[in-house]
Amino acid sequence: MIKFSHYKYSLDPVSVIGALAPQVPREGALLRCEWPDQKVGYADCFPWVEMGDADIDTQIYALSRGKISLLMEQTIWLARKDALMRSMHVNGLTGGAKIKSHYLVTDLSKLGDSELSNIKSAGFSTLKIKVGRNLEEEARQILRLTKLTQFMFRLDFNSKSDFSSFERFMTIFDKAAASRIEFVEDPFPYDEAAWTEASRMARLAVDFESENIDWAKIQKAPFEYLIIKPARQDVDKAIHRCTTHNLKAVVTSSLDHPVGVVHAAIVAAEIKKNYPSILMDCGILSLKVYRPNEFSNKIVTQGPYIVQTHGYGIGFDQVLPNLEWQPL
Ligand code: MG
Repeated sequence: MIKFSHYKYSLDPVSVIGALAPQVPREGALLRCEWPDQKVGYADCFPWVEMGDADIDTQIYALSRGKISLLMEQTIWLARKDALMRSMHVNGLTGGAKIKSHYLVTDLSKLGDSELSNIKSAGFSTLKIKVGRNLEEEARQILRLTKLTQFMFRLDFNSKSDFSSFERFMTIFDKAAASRIEFVEDPFPYDEAAWTEASRMARLAVDFESENIDWAKIQKAPFEYLIIKPARQDVDKAIHRCTTHNLKAVVTSSLDHPVGVVHAAIVAAEIKKNYPSILMDCGILSLKVYRPNEFSNKIVTQGPYIVQTHGYGIGFDQVLPNLEWQPL
């Protein structure tokens, strides 16, 4: 039996998170797991209720009754990885492959010229933009950015569009501008025919829509990229899908707690080591989405890279043991 305890937290978004979520505090919980072999590990559980997850209280209650959601299963899997690293006295970020992240823009209307020049001088080469609140306005602004800057663009619709709005959105881009769109992520709910049609206008990436795909039946995937969120999905299964369907992988955080962010960084480095040709720049550096806390302050970053945490496993050794853990 694993002994579980949890620590509930809330994260304060700095602005709206695209079409995905309003600017309200978001609740999740850190989980402390102690196995019968005495190993102890930590991970994050960060539900996206907007995307169909049960809220954190329901997740914790279910766990206390021995019912484990898919989300919680990943939390425990990551906690075990942390526990193993801790028992071997290694830090997960030390000595691994360097993983470059894109720069995440959750509210395009607030992206000013000074932020743009800071992003550029920090060494980012790709902007990931959450779109879908005002597509026409956003398309014009992105078109302008393709002329003004050298960035590549990843545009995430979070399935909030439909085929005809997406088609209209894409017509705003001339050929040169369209070539700077690395991919469009979850443009609208998955439908093989409509996505195939959409794939003639832009390269597509699949994230949450992965759950709506009958993977066994796909002949030729209408998308070229798979977003892998170690906090939310079985990583080995996702990698298998990449190798089977010839997809590129992009590991991202779940816009979750810094504990989740570091876990994602470590998993990305492992994938890079084992499958160097399929891993693209990732989306791990999402710390700035929320106001700083005692965890984010302890992650050392350098431009688009997460460089270091202090301690074993995922680190945070001065903070984690001292939280007020609630046993289940
Ligand atoms: Mg996405």
